[in-house]
Amino acid sequence: LSVTDLVDQSLAKIGDVDSKVRAFLRVDEEGARRTARELDDQLAFGGDRGLLFGLPAGIKDNIVTEGITTTCASRFLENYDPIYDATVIKKLKQAQSVTIGKLNMDEFAMGGSNENSAYHVTTNPWNPEYVPGGSSGGSAASVAAGEVYFSLGSDTGGSIRQPASYCGVVGLKPTYGLVSRFGLVAFASSLDQIGPLTKNVEDAAYVLQAIAGHDPQDSTSANVSIPDYIGALSGDVKGLRIAVPKEYMGQGVDPAVKDSVLSALKVLEGLGAVWEEVSMPHTEYAVATYYLIASSEASSNLARFDGVRYGVRASDPDNLLDLYVKSRSQGFGPEVKRRIMLGTYALSSGYYDAYYLKAQKVRTLIKQDFDNVFQNYDVIIGPTAPTTAFKIGEQVGDPLTMYLNDILTIPVNLAGVPAISVPCGLAEGMPVGLQIIGKALDEATVLRVAHAFE
Ligand code: GLN
Repeated sequence: LSVTDLVDQSLAKIGDVDSKVRAFLRVDEEGARRTARELDDQLAFGGDRGLLFGLPAGIKDNIVTEGITTTCASRFLENYDPIYDATVIKKLKQAQSVTIGKLNMDEFAMGGSNENSAYHVTTNPWNPEYVPGGSSGGSAASVAAGEVYFSLGSDTGGSIRQPASYCGVVGLKPTYGLVSRFGLVAFASSLDQIGPLTKNVEDAAYVLQAIAGHDPQDSTSANVSIPDYIGALSGDVKGLRIAVPKEYMGQGVDPAVKDSVLSALKVLEGLGAVWEEVSMPHTEYAVATYYLIASSEASSNLARFDGVRYGVRASDPDNLLDLYVKSRSQGFGPEVKRRIMLGTYALSSGYYDAYYLKAQKVRTLIKQDFDNVFQNYDVIIGPTAPTTAFKIGEQVGDPLTMYLNDILTIPVNLAGVPAISVPCGLAEGMPVGLQIIGKALDEATVLRVAHAFE
């Protein structure tokens, strides 16, 4: 097969199914065909194949792509054409994958269902009445529907893993700092991390290999050598020590989801791993902590959208202040406004100590829960989300219920450690995700366990 064939197949599949799945905000047919021709020509002239040679890829629309409009699924950026590539996009170009287009998401990555997109709602390929999860819902759905080989998403509080779980694909959130955030439109800078969504664990190892690595353009990028993730997929988990936090299997977790996780643990036991129940007592504070920290950082990061520097500018302002107010009132959707108000409040003088500073302290306690468990165990395992995908419309009116879906993914971002969601069965016909959490920078073990289980 030539790269042109692969790209033709991808575009044909999108033509067949995307009117229903609606994973894409934009398909760059011309650019994809041009890249395919270039790669085919290079190969014909004896060039080497990159690590991801010729593979059609979808990119979440908060990762900037030179020459391809990047909206973050917001009206505010409907006309934003970046003049540079994010570091991950540069790295994908070096690895020679082909960018097919930009994928739907919750506006500015705020949400867990794709219903906060300003453009349309992506549906779950397993059943169009259900959400694909979010915020990287387009990234998960495009892979599940077979429209692309892999996609990139971003995960601030679960946004790669939760949609991967809901759509029955693999989603990996790397250690904070392992993958450059340069060119990722910032939501909550101390939590954001880019990662792959793929059909299987081996593909995740390949994509991570291509995108990981130190970047001087991201001041929080880890300056570490990158191990051989592909070589780590040995299938061997003998003697591996697994911790299962009782807080991850408690009230609020659907019994069918729990059963799937327990059968996954049996499989790993059969392969020679051992598991024990542990306690991570600060888990119950993670959601509150996250929504304070993430909203605070978001309120600061989103201050740059003022109608002057980026995106859409409101017409007929009375003065400069009015320009800001009108542009922001018209450009942002309701969930983004809610987060900005919450964050601005938590950071305001007189409240800072009670909310933001307190949240930072609890964040340290949550991280210590992980440090304690990792003294005696190699990985932590539980469900990715308390339930399987819910129906479109079911939770839109109820932000608090929506926020609680993140209870099992958020602690991982607060601690900065890596985690993968890998399919582990079905509950009432919808996919369940198994979450495997590792020590900081130990993606190799996370991938090895996920691969052995798969
Ligand atoms: N659902 C979470 C939120 O709404 C997670 C978002 C994310 O990881 N980008 O903030």
